[in-house]
Amino acid sequence: MERKLRIAIIGAGLGGLSAAIRLAHQGHRVKVFESNNSVGGKANSFSKNGFRFDTGPSLLTMPFVLEELFSSVNESISDYIKLEKLKITCKYFYPDNTVLDAYSNIEKFADEVSRKTDDSSKSILRYLNYSKRIYDLTAELFLFKSFSEASTFTNMQALKALININALDTMRSMHKANSKFFKDEKIIQLFDRYATYNGSNPFTAPATLNIIQHVEFGLGAFIPKEGIYSISNSLYKLAEKKNVEFQFNTKIDEIIIEKDKVKGIKTNKNEEEFDVVISNSDVTNTYEKLIPNCNSKMYRRYKKLEPSTSALVFYWGIKGIHDELETHNIIFSEDYELEFNELFNQKIIPNDPTTYIYISSKYNSKDAPKDCENWFVMVNAPYIENQNWSNEVEKTRINVMRKINSALGINIESKIEFEEILSPIEIERKTSSYKGSLYGISSNSKMAAFLRQQNRSKEYKGLYFVGGSAHPGGGIPLVVLSGKIAADLINKYES
Ligand SMILES: Cc1cc2nc3c(=O)[nH]c(=O)nc-3n(C[C@H](O)[C@H](O)[C@H](O)COP(=O)(O)OP(=O)(O)OC[C@H]3O[C@@H](n4cnc5c(N)ncnc54)[C@H](O)[C@@H]3O)c2cc1C
Repeated sequence: MERKLRIAIIGAGLGGLSAAIRLAHQGHRVKVFESNNSVGGKANSFSKNGFRFDTGPSLLTMPFVLEELFSSVNESISDYIKLEKLKITCKYFYPDNTVLDAYSNIEKFADEVSRKTDDSSKSILRYLNYSKRIYDLTAELFLFKSFSEASTFTNMQALKALININALDTMRSMHKANSKFFKDEKIIQLFDRYATYNGSNPFTAPATLNIIQHVEFGLGAFIPKEGIYSISNSLYKLAEKKNVEFQFNTKIDEIIIEKDKVKGIKTNKNEEEFDVVISNSDVTNTYEKLIPNCNSKMYRRYKKLEPSTSALVFYWGIKGIHDELETHNIIFSEDYELEFNELFNQKIIPNDPTTYIYISSKYNSKDAPKDCENWFVMVNAPYIENQNWSNEVEKTRINVMRKINSALGINIESKIEFEEILSPIEIERKTSSYKGSLYGISSNSKMAAFLRQQNRSKEYKGLYFVGGSAHPGGGIPLVVLSGKIAADLINKYES
C-alpha cells in the first residue's frame, strides 16, 4: 500500500461494514458514522417480552461471500457465525389449498412438484439448469466486478457472455420465460416470486433475473443459528478488532466537496477532514441531502428511474406452536399479475397480498418464550408516493389476517400477544432509503443493471458508494460484495 488514507464511511449497514473491515485491515484509518445507535441498518434486531426479531432480512444466500470477507482478513467465519443450510427453503400455501415444500434437495423438490401439481419433475430440473446457465455466464460479470472498469468487459468471461447472449434471456420478462417452462400457474407464480428478491415486477423485469432461482436452489439458502442479526453483530466485532472507529448517533449532514473533490464530512456539530468518503446511505439520498446544490448526472438519472418496492412488516409475538409452518412460509395471492399492477401502477398495498411469514424460533427456540413463536409477517408495499399509510396499514392488517386464517384454519388475532409494525415510512426514516425502497432502483427494465450507481463516483474524486442502491444491488451478499468492489477501487485509485 502506498499511502494510509483517512476514510469516512457514512452508515454502518452491511455494505459499509464490509468496506470498513477490508480497508482497515489494509492499514487505512477508517471511521464509520452511523445515525442510529447500533450497526446493521436494515439488518437489525429488537427484543420485547421474551421475543427476539430480526427486523429486515431473513434469508441468507451465497454465504461464500461472507466467508470470503472473513478469510480476506485472516479470520474464519465459523469463529463468529454458525451457518446452517435449510432443509426446506420455504413452504408455499396456495388459494386452492395446495401446500408445497420447497426442499433444498432439488430432486426431492422436483418430486414434490410432480406429485402435487400439473408439472413434472423433469421440467423443474430443466428449469433449474437454465437458471444455473444464466448464473454461470453472468455472475462473474454482473455481481463480482466493477462495471465502471474496462477490464471487466475485456476478459474471457465477458466474451463468453457475449457469445451466449441468447442464454442470458434479456428479451422477455421473467413471467414470459417461466410460462414457457411450466403449465401449472402455481409453479409459474412460485418462480415469478423471485423478482421480489430485488423489489421488481416479474411481469416486466427481464428473464435474466431468473438467475436468482439458481442462487437459492443450486447454491442453497442458509440461516445463522443466532439469527440474521448475528451477521451484523459479527461484522461489527470484526471491524472493531481491525481498529475501525465507530461514532454512533451521528447523522452526517454534508459531504464537503471542493472543486469536485471530496474534502471531508460535516455533522450538525463539527467538520472532519478525510481523503475518501464512502456513502453507505442510499444513492439518491446522498446526492439529494448530502451534496449541496448537487448537479450530478447520476443524480438526475436516478431521479428518473423507478425505485424498487418497499415492505410492510408486522412483528407478532404469537401464543402457541404452529407445526403446519416452517421457518420460511409464503401464502400466495389469487392473482399475481393484479398484485404487481397494484404495487407498481396503482401504488397501493395489494388487496390480496402474498404474505410471507418468517419464524426464527422454529430454528432457535431462544427467540421466543416457551410455547410461543416470533412471527415476522411481511407483504410487499409500493415505494412512498403520497399514500395514506395509516389506511394502508389498517387495511393490510385485516387482509393479512384473513389470508392466514383461511390458509391455516386458525384465528390469528386471538394469538397475538404483542405487535410492532414497520411501514415504508419507518424504513425511510430509520435507514434513509429513498422513498422507503428496499433495494434502490427496481430491475423492471432491461438496462437497470447498467444504470445503477457504480461504486466509484466519476464525478467527485474520492467519493465511493456501497450498499443496496449501488452496484451490484440489494440483498446481504450483494451489499457485502459492494464493500469489496469499493475497497479494491479505493486501493487502485486513491492509494
Ligand atoms: C423488510 C426487509 C426484508 C429484507 N429481506 C431480505 C432477505 O431476506 N435477504 C436479503 O439478502 N436481503 C433482504 N433485505 C435487504 C437487505 O436488508 C439490504 O439489502 C441490506 O441489509 C442493505 O445493506 P446496506 O449496506 O445497503 O445498508 P442499510 O441497511 O441500508 O443501512 C444503511 C445505514 O446507513 C445509515 N445512514 C444513512 N444515512 C446516514 C447519514 N446521513 N449519516 C449517518 N448514517 C446514515 C443508516 O442509519 C443505516 O444504518 C431486506 C430488507 C428489508 C428492509
